[in-house]
Amino acid sequence: MSQVRKAVIIGAGPAGILAALRLQQFNHISPIIYEIRPEPTTLGGAIGIPSNGLRLLYKLGLWDALRDRGAETSTVSVHAIKGHVIGNMDMASWSREKTGFGYLRIRRVDLMEVLYDEARKAGIPICFSKHLTGIEEDNQGITVTFSDGTSDKADLLLGCDGIHSMVRTLYVDPNTEPEYSGISNIYSLVATSELPSAAASIDSLNVMLTTDGLLAISPCRASREMVYWFFSRELAIPPSGDTRDGWEERGKQQVETIKSTVLDLIKDSEGEWGLTMKETVRQTNTLRFYPIYHLPAGGKWSKGRCLVIGDAAHAMQPHASQGVSMALEDIFMLSNLLDSNPASLNEVFRIYEQKRRPRVNEMHQLAERNGGVRKRISPWQLWLKEIATSGALGIYSLFGLSKLGIGQKPLAYDIEEDMH
Ligand SMILES: Cc1cc2nc3c(=O)[nH]c(=O)nc-3n(C[C@H](O)[C@H](O)[C@H](O)COP(=O)(O)OP(=O)(O)OC[C@H]3O[C@@H](n4cnc5c(N)ncnc54)[C@H](O)[C@@H]3O)c2cc1C
Repeated sequence: MSQVRKAVIIGAGPAGILAALRLQQFNHISPIIYEIRPEPTTLGGAIGIPSNGLRLLYKLGLWDALRDRGAETSTVSVHAIKGHVIGNMDMASWSREKTGFGYLRIRRVDLMEVLYDEARKAGIPICFSKHLTGIEEDNQGITVTFSDGTSDKADLLLGCDGIHSMVRTLYVDPNTEPEYSGISNIYSLVATSELPSAAASIDSLNVMLTTDGLLAISPCRASREMVYWFFSRELAIPPSGDTRDGWEERGKQQVETIKSTVLDLIKDSEGEWGLTMKETVRQTNTLRFYPIYHLPAGGKWSKGRCLVIGDAAHAMQPHASQGVSMALEDIFMLSNLLDSNPASLNEVFRIYEQKRRPRVNEMHQLAERNGGVRKRISPWQLWLKEIATSGALGIYSLFGLSKLGIGQKPLAYDIEEDMH
């Protein structure tokens, strides 16, 4: 196959825009992005990006703009159901030393604004309302066609169209389908001006385990004028089935009842944090429900001149905060391999698969394990978990285990080192 000069990218989410920026900046490839939605989306909560992802965003020249908007917060404070703190941990104490970056929590809409701005400045075309209908390949390149009758041809096609990827189902791997993880999230963004003054001083991720799931709250803007809270719990597939209508009905019912459910679960929480959390839940007007799906590990990632990356290839549960960072790692690995093997996409995809598969599988499993703490437990189990967590965090801090990088090694992963 000839050298890649032009890349068609399907999907203008984080993976699509970041891929376009990197391929243009580093590989001098001309990207064009096709997005199914009529305009940039303004939906979404707040995304956590750990050291491994932040290091790559810095390399793309995006760090300053993102830091100006998001909240740099790497401390986790764990609260008992009674409200008091049972332990604190800096989840980036070691990885920050290794990479120079900690942890950023940023509203999805802020992240996307920064990415769209950068794409505009770089002159990367993004075409909206494009419904992909076909993909065909010959010796000269790969052609995509859209429902409006238009088509485009390139040397490389990247499927960055998320968990329900058309590129994957039409072309690369029609057999891999998203699966419900058994966990659902409900989240909200609340302005601190509407909350007791203590809310403005929430400066870290505060989490609380309850008998019915995990409750968490974190700042998500640099100015601290907004908090992001979510409740993540075990929830069965709707009785009417794993369908859009079934989940819509269930989502509506969850949104209607979640405030009273959470307030009841944390009714014994006292102290400033307990009061602030209860007030935050009471003052919340808009909630969004999200059943968490993932892709089973082991699906196909490439075919011919086409590669799927990000959620289109390996959507994982969000409980390791690695979705955007995994997409970034995919992009950097692809771009570095294109640079070192300019004449053979087959070879690029072969090495890509060999390098990315173990890393992605590791994070997929970590995310699934972390999802386990959201499952329903009895009050006794909760009591035992609180004692175990307090003990584990106490030992971690007393013996300075963070200095050994325990639990943080994946966050210092360096794509450049993995190239050798
Ligand atoms: C509740 C929740 C919390 C999360 N928390 C975090 C977190 O803290 N940290 C983190 O890193 N990740 C988190 N994630 C995951 C993160 O959102 C994803 O990993 C990330 O958005 C993946 O980016 P992507 O570009 O691959 O896919 P997407 O963000 O899904 O973007 C895909 C894009 O493609 C478009 N598209 C879809 N189909 C087509 C088509 N046929 N043609 C053209 N365009 C198409 C879509 O409209 C969209 O713009 C969370 C996810 C959820 C659900």
